[in-house]
Amino acid sequence: MTTEELLSRSRQCLMNTYARQPLVLVRGEGVTVWDSDGKEYLDFLAGVAVCALGHSHPKVVDAICAQAGKLMHVSNIFHIEPQIRMAELLVAHSFADRVFFCNSGAEANEAAIKLARKYTHETLSSPAYEIITMEQSFHGRTLATIAATGQQKFHRGFEPLVEGFRYVPFDDVRALADAITGNTCAVMVEPIQGEGGVRVPSADYLREVRELCNDRGILLILDEVQTGMGRTGDLFAYERAGIIPDIMTLAKGLGNGFPVGAMLATEGVASAFVPGSHATTFGGNPLAMAAALAVFETMRDDGIFEHCRRMGAYFIGRLGEVKSHCPVIREVRGRGLLIGVELSMEGTGFVGEFLKRGILMNCTAGNVLRFVPPLIVTEEQIDRATGVLEEVLAHP
Ligand SMILES: *Cc1c(COP(=O)(O)O)cnc(C)c1O
Repeated sequence: MTTEELLSRSRQCLMNTYARQPLVLVRGEGVTVWDSDGKEYLDFLAGVAVCALGHSHPKVVDAICAQAGKLMHVSNIFHIEPQIRMAELLVAHSFADRVFFCNSGAEANEAAIKLARKYTHETLSSPAYEIITMEQSFHGRTLATIAATGQQKFHRGFEPLVEGFRYVPFDDVRALADAITGNTCAVMVEPIQGEGGVRVPSADYLREVRELCNDRGILLILDEVQTGMGRTGDLFAYERAGIIPDIMTLAKGLGNGFPVGAMLATEGVASAFVPGSHATTFGGNPLAMAAALAVFETMRDDGIFEHCRRMGAYFIGRLGEVKSHCPVIREVRGRGLLIGVELSMEGTGFVGEFLKRGILMNCTAGNVLRFVPPLIVTEEQIDRATGVLEEVLAHP
């Protein structure tokens, strides 16, 4: 089967929901992936900030294989030890007291939205239901999470939207304060906007949002689906802000590619969920939990966060050098290994140029080249990606 034939079959049978690159990937190891023609690539996309430990990490592979041979799935009407252990790990290393496992970022955010409403209605006996989110945010593709997403392009054609969301500019506490009313039950925000263009708010922003939520008696939901699990150099991005949220969502890096999401909350908020409130068939099943446990333990034991901080600083430094003689680069920004290079022109066309030169990455928000490599990336690999950036931007 030639690659051309596979591409043609793919175009015929799959829903046309993605602008896919003309490339069939077959194998990965660490930061490297290979396509169906045997060509090698450095993966600076990592499944969009998912494969934090790189492809086919032996500890994750072993854990999944061992669990698959033992018990793959039972219903959440039974207890399973891997789920208990994973919840204990997340609780021990975060602000949270309780965890709900699901299968994706959108599902985690759905659960967070439901919990915020239920807590407000039943625990606080308040009819407030509105959740304020940010312009340029991204929270997923289900009906409620596109409504939470402050970008019209994700809404168009799907109206009527789920009610109860309102948008304010990101990194603008005054606008947020003005938007909060008696009908507001929560604020939902990404610590760093990922899909929105790797936008890093000012240092005080999250702390001020936290104070505002406290003053107005509303919940703070942090969407750490992209920033969580070490991506920014800390286990969770909120740690750097010196605050804690009431609810937090995770997904992308949690299973290193095995689909798993989580919604975490404090005891007081989580207590609004009782048997029957919310559920999932697959969420937190033994296989997903085995993957997540292996990921968490490996990250912790192998010094991944420290490595991510060093490589992130190195990468941003190298990108800064490129910027100094590359006028088309408007800004280099990010934290840890969540990095964006904003161009003064449309950036989508460059993705194919990177691809030709053996680097996988993507472009978000129209003009931001996004680099989210596995957290195990090396200086040599960063040098190669930086070299390719220099090359492709030389003749824009
Ligand atoms: C990717 C992402 C989501 C959606 O996750 P899915 O697993 O695709 O549903 C939600 N929020 C943020 C911040 C994300 O980056």
